[in-house]
Formats: sequence, C-alpha cells, structure tokens
Amino acid sequence: MNFIEDARWFHTPPREECAGAPVAPGRVTLVGAGPGDPELLTLRAVKALRGARLVLYDHLVGKEVLRYVAEDADLIYVGKESSHHTLPQESIIDLMVRLARSGRPVVRLKGGDGFIFGRGGEEAQALAAAGIPFEVVPGITAAQGAGACAGIPLTHRDHAATLVFASGHLRGDNEVALDWELLARPRQTVVIYMGMGTLPTISAELLRHGLPGETPAALVEQASLPTQRCITGTLQTLPALAQQHRVRPPALIIIGGVVALQPQLLQGMHAMPAPMD
Ligand code: SAH
Repeated sequence: MNFIEDARWFHTPPREECAGAPVAPGRVTLVGAGPGDPELLTLRAVKALRGARLVLYDHLVGKEVLRYVAEDADLIYVGKESSHHTLPQESIIDLMVRLARSGRPVVRLKGGDGFIFGRGGEEAQALAAAGIPFEVVPGITAAQGAGACAGIPLTHRDHAATLVFASGHLRGDNEVALDWELLARPRQTVVIYMGMGTLPTISAELLRHGLPGETPAALVEQASLPTQRCITGTLQTLPALAQQHRVRPPALIIIGGVVALQPQLLQGMHAMPAPMD
C-alpha cells in the first residue's frame, strides 16, 4: 500500500496524458467502514477495498480495516482531525471529483456509515452534480456497534419505542442546535454523536426540558475496538463521570432506560459456556 499522507500534493494525470481520447469518469464507491472492528465490515465493503486502486479515507477509519486494501493501491488520508495535513470538506470533494474525472475508480472510505453524520450526503450530491457514477455501501454506524458491543439494546419493547440519533456538534455560534423537547421525551433512546465537548450542555438542557436526572445514561468510547470503554451512570452524573474517567472522542452518549439492561446482558455476553456432559 502506498500511503499518501498529504493529499494536497497528490498528482492526478491531466486528461491529455490519457492518449487524447475522452476519458470516461471513474466510478466512486462510497464505503462505510463500520465502527472500527474489521469484522464488522460488510462483505461488499471488503470486496470494494480488495478491488480498490485508490482509497480516500478518513480519520475514523480503523487501522485494521485498511489491511483489506490491495498491496499496490494508493491510500490518501483526508481525515479532518488530528493532523496538519488535512483537507477541508470542499477540498475533499474537489479531490474526489478530480480523481474520478481523470478516469480513476475511487473508493471513498468513511467511519461507520457514510450517510450518518459522515457528510456522505454532501459527497453524493457533488458526484451526482458532476455526472460521476457512484455506488453507496452502507456501514455499521457507531451507535449500532456501541449498542452491540457494550450490551445496550437500542430499542426494547418495555423501554424504548423510539430511537433518535443526534449530533452534539457545536454550531458556529457555540450553541448546540438540538430540539431539546423532542430529545427529552419519555420511552425513547437518544444516541448523541460528537457530543463529548458539549456533554455538560446536553445534560443540563435535557434536565431542564424534563428528562429525569436518574434516567440511565452511558458513554461508549472506541466502540467495537479492543480499547472500548463503557461508563454508565445517569443523565445527572454523566458529565462528572466523563471528566473523572477522561473519556475522549470517538465516544457516543446513550441516554434512556435501555442502558439499565446492560448488567444483565453483560452477564450473558461474558458468561463461560456451561460444560457439556
Ligand atoms: N459516520 C459515522 C459517524 C461520524 S461522526 C458513523 O456512522 O458512525 C463522528 C462521531 O461518531 C464521533 O464523534 C463519535 O461520537 C462517533 N463514533 C465514531 N466511531 C466511534 C466508535 N468506534 N466509538 C464510539 N463513537 C464513535
């Protein structure tokens, strides 16, 4: 694999280098990489990675997932966090469109599912607008990975008939733009992505909008990876627990009665099989 750390300098052959004939655009495959554990990739994702010649991948894509990419493929890191070589979203889209227009098939690999807080919608819009054929391969989103690996069923007939995925990301004006009334409704599970920086606000607003302080709540860090941690408490105690345990992104906030089922489920998940006679 040829890792290209700084995407800004990646060379795309101009059209005239391609023997003068008009070049048909390469197909783009938008692939969801799942929450990190490579065993949670779909078969279609693995097929796309194995066949890829060029992969643009994000910060949240698990390292182990990249092992499925062919040895001689080019891998371009376009992650948006923790690197000085990263690209703004518009430049990622430009690069992807430019590469596809030069005739190269591109795999665009994103953590979780590209269409769930992954800006895959914007990328798909840009491809559609540019007339570039594309395919979307879904991934297991972080909430599903966290629920399954931490023993928290996201819905349950006795506890949650509604499931809400929300983003805790700050708006430009430092506000969290969420519909607090909706999120504070009873008998539902709320999963908040990108909420670690705004957890104190999230907790305070939900309390203010009537969700009881003792509502069970959890933080799941690095879901599905060997480094996964899950910290449980209540809506009231969660911000202090996050500090105390130094919970860091990527982490999800899960709020709702289903969190209280975890101890029982973990018993079964970690139980040794009974010896057979
Ligand atoms: N498209 C992704 C979400 C990207 S938004 C998906 O479908 O999962 C980034 C946020 O996702 C992080 O801030 C965190 O809240 C969450 N996240 C992604 N991977 C995670 C993981 N392995 N464990 C916990 N949270 C994760």
